[in-house]
Order: sequence, then structure tokens, then C-alpha cells
Amino acid sequence: MSSVLILADFIGGKNTKTTAELATAAAHIGDVTAVVLAPVGQGAAYAAALVQAPISNVLVVESDSFLTHGVAAAADVLTQIIAAKNPAAVLIASHAFGKEVAGRVAVKSNSGIITDAVDVAADITATQLVFGGSTTVHSKISHGTPIITVRPNSITADLKSVSPTIETLSFDIADNAKKSTVTSSQPPVQGGRPELTEADIVVSGGRGTNGDFSAVEAFADSLGAAVGASRAATDAGWYPHSHQVGQTGKTVSPQLYVACGISGAIQHRAGMQTSKAILVINKDPEAPIFEIADFGVIGDLFAVLPKATEGVNARKS
Ligand SMILES: Cc1cc2nc3c(=O)[nH]c(=O)nc-3n(C[C@H](O)[C@H](O)[C@H](O)COP(=O)(O)OP(=O)(O)OC[C@H]3O[C@@H](n4cnc5c(N)ncnc54)[C@H](O)[C@@H]3O)c2cc1C
Repeated sequence: MSSVLILADFIGGKNTKTTAELATAAAHIGDVTAVVLAPVGQGAAYAAALVQAPISNVLVVESDSFLTHGVAAAADVLTQIIAAKNPAAVLIASHAFGKEVAGRVAVKSNSGIITDAVDVAADITATQLVFGGSTTVHSKISHGTPIITVRPNSITADLKSVSPTIETLSFDIADNAKKSTVTSSQPPVQGGRPELTEADIVVSGGRGTNGDFSAVEAFADSLGAAVGASRAATDAGWYPHSHQVGQTGKTVSPQLYVACGISGAIQHRAGMQTSKAILVINKDPEAPIFEIADFGVIGDLFAVLPKATEGVNARKS
């Protein structure tokens, strides 16, 4: 059986559920080996976190360069592992860090790359949704080792318990990969809400909030959801740009996306159209976002959201 590498997705030292999604996609192709890039002394703890996904082997590489030289060090080591292991494919999370690592690895290993896949078949055909989700594309890499980035939340993770074999490797990191240094970094302020791209439910507000996100936030909190925003809202300074959903913001694919006071411009849809269910709250029945809604409420969000929040909270107690 061919071996497939995944780059285990650790953010701030914590394994994300995207690792299990990558492993689930990779298991369609072959035996899954997770590559763990950890700071010195933390490889064992990182590897121990990978016990709930279809992973057969874990390759641990420890280096503090992953902290100081970020993507360049990660790409350098991953390229060396590909040369040593000759995998059938490499799957990486499709976020900013993952896509930059993937791009560098593809160049270094003279391989083809596909980004933002939402599925990968057993024959390594990747599925992408393009043009704001309106067109489905199937593609295959014909040169080198297929490097594919997979969108978080696109694949239902197989959370089976495993006891993978663990191998520790060491590599010299090339001087070329040390030409820029991270001088400081600060984890994002989460405020108790889940990370936008990983959340099962996202409640987003747009221009219709008129700058008051309190009803959106209260509804999100009643559901344990992340809060998103349209670009109209982030450009107006009503919500941080880090929460923007869309073509020039983040791509989300939650189980439920709630769009409040958002018209549904193509650039917004591009970032949320693959959500499993879409609920729209908008006072204009002609708003284009209703075209992609599974459920719709025509009404004022300031009237609808507090009632919905009350209803959810009442059911919880
Ligand atoms: C290159 C480029 C990239 C872009 N990238 C993005 C992106 O990443 N993400 C993004 O979102 N946009 C992006 N845009 C902007 C996009 O084109 C739209 O302008 C933007 O999405 C509109 O935001 P909105 O839906 O909040 O506002 P509007 O289009 O103004 O819609 C507001 C909606 O709120 C409704 N409403 C008003 N009051 C209420 C109320 N009290 N209760 C209920 N409903 C109410 C209205 O009926 C209306 O439908 C981009 C544009 C360009 C050109």
C-alpha cells in the first residue's frame, strides 16, 4: 500500500481537528504518515496528541527553527522528508501557513500543487469548488509528488483511536531557509469563542448590523459559534479584519453558517458557500443571499436574533 504524508496541523502547540480531516482524506489513498514539526523537547507531546485519526506512523522532527524561521524551515524539512520517503502524495491544511509551506515544497521538489481541495479521491484526484462555489473542478497532478492543500472543515474526520508507530528523524535546515527570522509573535485573542475556520457554527454580521454586533455575538455565544463578518463590516471598522469571511478574507465551511444583514455578494459567497447548511436573516426578500439559503428569515436582525437567542438559551436550561 502506498504511503501518504500529511503535515500534522499544530497551531500554537495545539493539534487542530484539521489533522484528523487530512488523515481521513489521506487514508483514501494509502497508509497515512503524519509529519510532526515541533520545537526542541516537544516532539513526544505533539506526537501523543495524534491518537484520534487514521494515522499509522508519526515522523517527528524537532527544531527551534520552526519557531524562528517559520514556513521556510518547515518547507525545507518537509522537502527533505519527501526525498527520503517518496510518498504517493502530501496533504497539508489549506490555511495561510499551510498554503505557503505547500507552495515552497512544490517548487523545491519540482512537483505539481493543488490548493483549496475539498476532497481527495483514492486515485489522488482533488475536488475544488471555484467561482464562489458555483463550479466543481476535478484535477490530478501529473508531475512529481502531488502536493495538495485541503480546506479545513471540508471532510468529516474519522476519529478512530489509533496507536501509531513513532519515528524521530533529524535534518539539517538549509541556510537559505534561515534568511528571515520571526522576532516576536502573539497568539490571537480568542475571547472564548472557537477559531473561525474550525468552528462547527459561524454567525456572521454585515452592513445590516449598522455597526452593532451585540445581537450577532449573543446569538453566536448561545450556539457556541464563531463570529464572522462581511467586508462591508470589517472595512467600516465594526469588526476586526481577522474575522472577515470571503474572497479576500477567510474561507469557512461549517455545519451551519448564519448570515445576518449580509446581501450575498459573490466575494462573500466565495468564503462560505460550501457551508453544509446556510441560514439567512435579512429584511430584504430580494437579497441575493436567499438564493443559496437552506433556511431564511425575512426580518430585522435586531428583532429576530434576540428571539432566536432566547429560544436557544431556553432549550439549554
Ligand atoms: C476584490 C473584492 C474583494 C472582496 N472581498 C470580500 C470578502 O472577502 N468578503 C466580503 O464579505 N465582501 C468582499 N467584497 C465586498 C463585496 O462585494 C460586498 O460589497 C460586501 O460583501 C457587502 O457586504 P454586506 O453584504 O454586509 O453589505 P450590503 O451589500 O450593503 O448588504 C447589507 C444587507 O443587509 C440587509 N439589512 C440591512 N439592515 C438590516 C436589518 N436591520 N436586518 C436584516 N437585514 C438588514 C440589507 O437588506 C442588505 O441585504 C469584496 C469586493 C471586491 C471588489
